[in-house]
Amino acid sequence: MNTIKLHDLYFKPFISKEEIARIVKSLAKQVKEDLPKDEIPFFVGILNGCFLFAADFIREFNGNCEVSFVKLASYEGTTSTANVKQLVGINEDLTGRTVIILEDIVDTGATLQEIYNIFRDKKVKQLKVATLFFKPEVFKKELPIAYIGKSIEDKFIVGYGLDYDGLGRNKAAIYQLTAPPKMKNIVLFGPPGAGKGTQATLLKEKYDLVHISTGDVFRYNIKNKTELGVLAKTYMDDGNLVPDEVTINMLKAEVEKNANANGFIFDGFPRTESQAIALDAFLAEKGAKINGMVALEVSEDLLVQRLLERGKTSGRTDDTDEEKIRNRFNEYNTKTAILKEFYQEQGTYYGVNGVGSIEDITDSLSAVFDTL
Ligand code: AMP
Repeated sequence: MNTIKLHDLYFKPFISKEEIARIVKSLAKQVKEDLPKDEIPFFVGILNGCFLFAADFIREFNGNCEVSFVKLASYEGTTSTANVKQLVGINEDLTGRTVIILEDIVDTGATLQEIYNIFRDKKVKQLKVATLFFKPEVFKKELPIAYIGKSIEDKFIVGYGLDYDGLGRNKAAIYQLTAPPKMKNIVLFGPPGAGKGTQATLLKEKYDLVHISTGDVFRYNIKNKTELGVLAKTYMDDGNLVPDEVTINMLKAEVEKNANANGFIFDGFPRTESQAIALDAFLAEKGAKINGMVALEVSEDLLVQRLLERGKTSGRTDDTDEEKIRNRFNEYNTKTAILKEFYQEQGTYYGVNGVGSIEDITDSLSAVFDTL
């Protein structure tokens, strides 16, 4: 399971859906066992948070029952407020009935207090509370809770009906508030020859990041005649992109090799939308993300000249032939350039002028890196 982000906050996996299912089943069993034979309980779910718990609990309850809901609101953001409002009440006649409240979570007890108030004058036979989660550290009331699924520490949780500011209710598991990821991950972006490699080498020292250049990894594999190298060469020689699946798996392996990194500078990756999607998902598994795509903006004509110049000394066969260079730009323009929009939509695209001295460009890039 992955860390998730809701609004501005991060939540880590806490209670699996399997464990929840076990708890719910056992609660339903206990409730049934304590009821006199043939007694038809009246379950009252407390909305909104209880809707998944109530649905699962009722299905696990082995016997006839009636079901209704009240809607209360007590939370604002992640801090419990003592302010409980009843938004939808109970209309049924509950005289002489055994009423069992289904709550997703009891923390300070403010909501529970309101529930006891609501049912005080309903002439019920008995009122019992079944809560899926309970926070003993913060519970301030003297009110009885007949059934507790699981006691948890006082940390904000979401999922399985519980929300943070509206989001998270549809997660099957429970997640707990956690610190934001510390890694700094940057995509250094730009067309072939924009200077990504040169700048990444300088910036990785300055920011103590690991530099992963997929082009370099491919060239290393070609030099060492690995299976991956032999495969990649057929594409690279013509200036075509290596297939996504191969590249994505290779990138993941490179990241895994550096488990303790403070973060990464990705250079030459992602180059397609599906690579970008795969990278987001892969980092999310680690509770991390791309902090920014920093792009070196340089016009194509200037770059062809630069690459031909570089080809005289770089030893790169894809730098010496103008037709191959043009094809690399074609690949860039048709498959890669759209990633600008992909990151713009996430609000993480930063364009930097890539024309000028190496030092000036490093300074411009650093100015962006410092804000990420
Ligand atoms: P570079 O050193 O980044 O200019 O990459 C040189 C060549 O390696 C490219 O023209 C592609 O053939 C291949 N390559 C590097 N990175 C990728 C990638 N992310 N996806 C597909 N092919 C790549």
